[in-house]
Amino acid sequence: MLHYSSFHPKHVKDSIPYSQALRIHRICSYKEDRDLHLNTLRSALVRDGYHAKLIDEQFHRATSKNREELLNRTIRTETKPRTPFVTTYFPGADQLRKTLRQTQHLIDSDPYLSDVLPQPPLLAIRQPPNLKRTLIRSKLPEPSPTQHGTRSCQKTRCRTCQLIDESTTVTRDNTTLTIHGKYTCNSTGVVYLIRCRKNCSDAWYIGETKQTLRERMNGHRATIRNCSTLPVGEHFSTHGHTESDIQLNILQGNLHTTHERRIAEQKLIAKFHTHDNGLNKDLGFMARYN
Ligand SMILES: [Zn+2]
Ligand SMILES: [Zn+2]
Repeated sequence: MLHYSSFHPKHVKDSIPYSQALRIHRICSYKEDRDLHLNTLRSALVRDGYHAKLIDEQFHRATSKNREELLNRTIRTETKPRTPFVTTYFPGADQLRKTLRQTQHLIDSDPYLSDVLPQPPLLAIRQPPNLKRTLIRSKLPEPSPTQHGTRSCQKTRCRTCQLIDESTTVTRDNTTLTIHGKYTCNSTGVVYLIRCRKNCSDAWYIGETKQTLRERMNGHRATIRNCSTLPVGEHFSTHGHTESDIQLNILQGNLHTTHERRIAEQKLIAKFHTHDNGLNKDLGFMARYN
């Protein structure tokens, strides 16, 4: 149970003795059992900082309900959904609730607003960040790749996985590059290579991205879908090609500034001649040096 000193709206904490007592009142068929459990609950609440007076009032409220009626399933009548007013909890939130109610007449007096907001908004309180949320992740950390080269990230919905080429070397003509890093579709700050699985020897493209490889590939995919005139989009949308003909490698990673990435990209473009003989039509920022 929530400790009474916990940073929560007062009405949330005040309702705990009531709802717990109501539960016991509903479950226990015999009064002796009920009172025994209520006593246990009472000690637990006192220990957690709840005032004796509050506990007694709420217990009384709960046990005065007719048990037979509590055992019937309550059918909630459908009400028109109220517009939520979402805010992170702060000590003045209770006052905000009152203010919303008190100022509703201003909305009611406006023909347009009274139609949109016929009732005061429902105050919806979001939990502020707490130590537990800051310190604990329920998500398991992704296993870091153990082998060199690029591996699929194994996420069920990842469409980049199937394009990945796991080889650790890339060769064109007499030039071979050994890939030293360990990457996945989730790697960021990389220089990557796109080749064509249909053995189109001139369809080499080298690019760089700050984003994850997966996000960057979504961008390329869009140009393919739109049959763009950009070289990659054009190659993989014509002559019976589809995006699944892409063969993808990360050549270099851990490049966290734009400058580092562009230098690495240009070096690799020069190494593999993907500008003279490939899909790197645009020289990018190097154009002004030629
Ligand atoms: Zn993937
Ligand atoms: Zn091709």
